[in-house]
Amino acid sequence: MGYVKGLRCRECGRGYPKESLYVCEYCFGPLEVDYDYEGIKEKLNKEVIEYRAKNLWRYRELLPLDGEPTVGLESGFTPLIRAVNLEKALGVKELYIKDDSVNHPTLSFKDRVVAVALSKAKEFGFDTVACASTGNLANSVAAQAAIANLKRYIFIPADLELGKIVGTLIFNPILVAVEGNYDQVNRLCSEIAKRHKWAFVNINIRPYYAEGSKTFGYEIAEQLGWKAPRNIIVPCAGGSLITKIWKGLKELQNLELIDRIDTKIYAAQATGCAPIVTGIKENSDIIRPVKPNTIARSLAIGNPADGIYAFRTVKESGGWAEDVSDDEIVEAMKLLAATQGIFTETAGGVTLGVTKKLIEQGRIPKDESILICITGNGLKTQEAVTEKIGKPIKINPNIASFEENIGRERRM
Ligand SMILES: *Cc1c(COP(=O)(O)O)cnc(C)c1O
Ligand SMILES: [Zn+2]
Repeated sequence: MGYVKGLRCRECGRGYPKESLYVCEYCFGPLEVDYDYEGIKEKLNKEVIEYRAKNLWRYRELLPLDGEPTVGLESGFTPLIRAVNLEKALGVKELYIKDDSVNHPTLSFKDRVVAVALSKAKEFGFDTVACASTGNLANSVAAQAAIANLKRYIFIPADLELGKIVGTLIFNPILVAVEGNYDQVNRLCSEIAKRHKWAFVNINIRPYYAEGSKTFGYEIAEQLGWKAPRNIIVPCAGGSLITKIWKGLKELQNLELIDRIDTKIYAAQATGCAPIVTGIKENSDIIRPVKPNTIARSLAIGNPADGIYAFRTVKESGGWAEDVSDDEIVEAMKLLAATQGIFTETAGGVTLGVTKKLIEQGRIPKDESILICITGNGLKTQEAVTEKIGKPIKINPNIASFEENIGRERRM
């Protein structure tokens, strides 16, 4: 196996060998993996893919390994759900949820990118991996590096949610809490990466890491019976996932695994950190950095690395973008739970809140197919809703107390 030709600059097109490089020496553009699509086309068809185990490696020819995958062997192939109750609540005809809140092993879409990044890091011969994270990446790198027997250094903003901190420390990494926001953590990590021979999954092996996100797009198409929905709403942090879902769909189209795509892609962010959405609304591909202030911590990247590519993706597809307040995020989390039984984290509240808004604005037609990307699990961000979902009714352990407090009013 192995269809990787090398790396290529996304801006000037210059080619590079398949090493742990990530930035073009000539124009400072980001590098991207370059595949032998002719070879892939000969090997890959729907039957071959469908016959394989239900994890993200069923698309392995389109992922950047030279050998067999060694990490994240159970990641991906999460449920795609027809959201009947939510269709009624929103007044739309055909609504789907791609549910990565139950991804293996750490309950977020980051399990995809980390499966690919750590498999690649092992191929490169690294014995230590690291990352700068807004939370979910920390969980996944710590867990999957534990499985792969890799040393692990995780860098996070010090004020992260408790669930994300506990969900990292349990895997026994060296967890470094930096007194600053994600953008400061990331800048620090870029400097550390120059001095230490570690595989920083989202810095020096970012081109390989980012390819893992394409599997989110492949699965959407396969699980819909090899077709793309008309509208996809994607939560954005650094802007990588949205770019790669689009790339994944276009690859499937070029490989003739799906028909011509007629899909609009929409970017979703929190109002307290919406640099990509602002760029799209103002039609400016100069993404102005912001200082994040939102409960959607996993999306709180003020200076998104792939902001310009997220912008281009939305424009090329003919989509749009919207942002929602923290209150709207909580309302949407509660709506998703009460209609579809899915407890998503704040990022999922952003996605659904934005979807609701775009439908109300008429941007997304009510009679077209709509797919929302749910990327993380609500058990990790409980503080966002704890005070907003009521309290249990306390009673004494006897029937009189039950009737007194509950039974009497509720009896039919
Ligand atoms: C990381 C993350 C995203 C999107 O990240 P990008 O940097 O835009 O690829 C979306 N949702 C959740 C829950 C995340 O953790
Ligand atoms: Zn270049």
